[in-house]
Amino acid sequence: MTDAPFHDRDGWIWMNGAMRPWREATLHVLTHALHYASAVFEGERAYDGVVFKSREHSERLHTSARLMGFEIPYSVEEIDRAKAELVARSGLGSCYLRAIAWRGSEKMGVSAPNNQIHVAIAAWAWGDYFADRMKGIRLSVAPWRRPAPDCAPCQSKAAGLYMICTLSKHGAEAAGFQDALMMDWRGQVAEATGANIFFVKDGVLHTPYPDAFLNGITRQTVIGLAKQRKIEVVERAIWPNELANFDEVFLTGSAAEISPVREIAGMNFKPGKVTEALLSDFGALVRRKNAA
Ligand code: PMP
Repeated sequence: MTDAPFHDRDGWIWMNGAMRPWREATLHVLTHALHYASAVFEGERAYDGVVFKSREHSERLHTSARLMGFEIPYSVEEIDRAKAELVARSGLGSCYLRAIAWRGSEKMGVSAPNNQIHVAIAAWAWGDYFADRMKGIRLSVAPWRRPAPDCAPCQSKAAGLYMICTLSKHGAEAAGFQDALMMDWRGQVAEATGANIFFVKDGVLHTPYPDAFLNGITRQTVIGLAKQRKIEVVERAIWPNELANFDEVFLTGSAAEISPVREIAGMNFKPGKVTEALLSDFGALVRRKNAA
């Protein structure tokens, strides 16, 4: 693994249909997406050379783009193939992948409906999203709320939605936490800045209903694994005044995988039986060759 800045690495990036040397995958400063956040992206992981839930991620990239008013000029199958080729060519067995689609630079201004849609995919070695993940992470409570569904296309993995996530995560880190828990516009518990959240009480799994944030692919996977184990799963509105009553807490996401939480703003939790069982099932699933 390297700490070199991302613009200064070796390797390949798939861009607009072809493999390019990593350093040549560049774009112009007058790109619509840079100014107006007209970009959608995916974060994915490959395990032992196989991209986990590749098709679901490629389909979500298409859905995210449609919600932002554009069509991706490559099919789900073409994007899947590009990811597989990139992982193979990079020689990375287990890695993180970032696919992104954005409006180009033909016209500048809020309106640019005919700008070219570009697509790029990069892959790099990336270990745990959180340092000391298995010790349990500490969350602050973010000052920013997830916007209402009529304030932003909240089911799109759109770059613009991450503005408040970066602000919240920077605030959390500056205060000594690893991440921030965000509420939604109603004040209900929503998610962390780049991962969904689950709670355990008396052996039952509780998680907020995803009506104002991404219904994560890892979230759906974990719900499936819990049901296979006959663990009851309750998707519902969760309010901040309930937090102290929960026994276990963990985050889920492609980057975060399953990350146990040991504190939310002064309230302490201990990863227990349910978190451990799901960690073990998830670890086995992602490394099964047919899981993709
Ligand atoms: N919420 C946000 C804001 C995210 O960035 C992510 C990561 N993509 C998730 C939830 C989890 O989604 P997934 O499990 O599909 O990676």
